[in-house]
Amino acid sequence: MATDYDVVVVGGRCAGAPLAMLLARAGFKVCVFERHTSQFEMRSTHTIQLAGVRLLDQWGALPRLKRLGAPLLTRIHMIIHGVSISGLPWTATDQLSSTCVKRGALDTLLGELAIEANAEVLYQHDVRAFEFDGGRWTISASTPSGSQTAVSSRFLVAADGMMSSVASRLDLQFSMYRPSLTFTLYKYVPNTVGSECYILVDEWGAQACVPTTDGDMIYVIQRPTALFDRFKTGPQSFLREAADRIAKFAAIPPQATLCDGFRRALNQPSFIRAMLETGACLIGDAWSHKDSVTAQGITDAFLDADLLAKLMIANPQMDARFERALKLKWAQRTALYAEEVERANRLAGFLPATATQIEELQTIARNPELSSKFLGLDAKTYSEKDLARDLAGLS
Ligand SMILES: Cc1cc2nc3c(=O)[nH]c(=O)nc-3n(C[C@H](O)[C@H](O)[C@H](O)COP(=O)(O)OP(=O)(O)OC[C@H]3O[C@@H](n4cnc5c(N)ncnc54)[C@H](O)[C@@H]3O)c2cc1C
Repeated sequence: MATDYDVVVVGGRCAGAPLAMLLARAGFKVCVFERHTSQFEMRSTHTIQLAGVRLLDQWGALPRLKRLGAPLLTRIHMIIHGVSISGLPWTATDQLSSTCVKRGALDTLLGELAIEANAEVLYQHDVRAFEFDGGRWTISASTPSGSQTAVSSRFLVAADGMMSSVASRLDLQFSMYRPSLTFTLYKYVPNTVGSECYILVDEWGAQACVPTTDGDMIYVIQRPTALFDRFKTGPQSFLREAADRIAKFAAIPPQATLCDGFRRALNQPSFIRAMLETGACLIGDAWSHKDSVTAQGITDAFLDADLLAKLMIANPQMDARFERALKLKWAQRTALYAEEVERANRLAGFLPATATQIEELQTIARNPELSSKFLGLDAKTYSEKDLARDLAGLS
């Protein structure tokens, strides 16, 4: 194994692995340290939005993604504040759509792509220390057996998730922080929805059924944090109540038992951190995190990886010019992302809809084209500004 690299990436999942793949394909010497094995199942409900599927397509990964067996969604049915909106957030030009792949399978695929591109991917290597001498980083990692690996690199990328220890040690501050408003429960049940997805949103929370790998669908319940104490003290009654509400969904399988086997994720703050230090930057959840209500984190991690790789490939010296370009592009990305973080935070508040909002939703529901566009808000193919413009055009 080499010890000198162009780039060392800490964290080898949705942000770190694609970055390593893209850079290694372009001839960079890249090393990835990942604390867990590739199959480790992250707490995540796995939807890859259309914008992310398009990137996987550009990266040549789509045939392998399809072989994992998760369908591309053919229709989304949403009941939002009592209004039914149904459509398909894709255009006929590429016939692509969002999909939902269990994380063990997705993360293994992303790791394999990085390894095939010739990146050194070291699983079960926990980065414990790093140091910068003004020119190069020295990074040390430990394995569960206690062995140590030390490497050096010109650039350090933190793709080590929401609790990024690299960000803490570099003292990169939050430019925006909203505490967690929701908690999420999810479990796998046999797929009864084919390639369609069902979502119910109201002031009590959100729940969804999305087809995924292994012939399963993922069944998600998201609720305001304020209700969590009730969940802790009386999970049976809480889940029965959820089941009563979910009974509005024709597609929920009668055999789904609600009271066991749920995974939980409790802490979902929305934030953006400063992303850049000399010779280092953050991507994915390490840089910014949104409440999972919009299910966009994987796609955003792909977008970060793609953008950073393009900037590095255009400036392989990674000199001051590169850092200026990086700063500029990330300022633009931060401005865009800040709106999305605010939207996620607003949705996670699960406020009752106003009369005007219900009227708008009814207008959208009556218009099939607008319905499909509206469902593209989470697919990242449509924006709230576009929606306001289109609604104004109809009135
Ligand atoms: C309940 C829930 C549901 C979600 N649902 C969705 C969804 O449907 N769709 C969606 O797009 N997003 C969803 N998300 C968000 C999504 O999971 C994240 O945005 C995504 O995983 C971010 O990828 P990442 O690579 O930046 O970070 P992570 O996936 O967190 O990966 C970081 C990696 O860094 C490694 N690491 C950390 N520290 C070290 C270290 N010191 N040394 C070595 N390795 C280290 C960790 O082991 C980890 O594997 C959900 C999140 C939650 C909590």
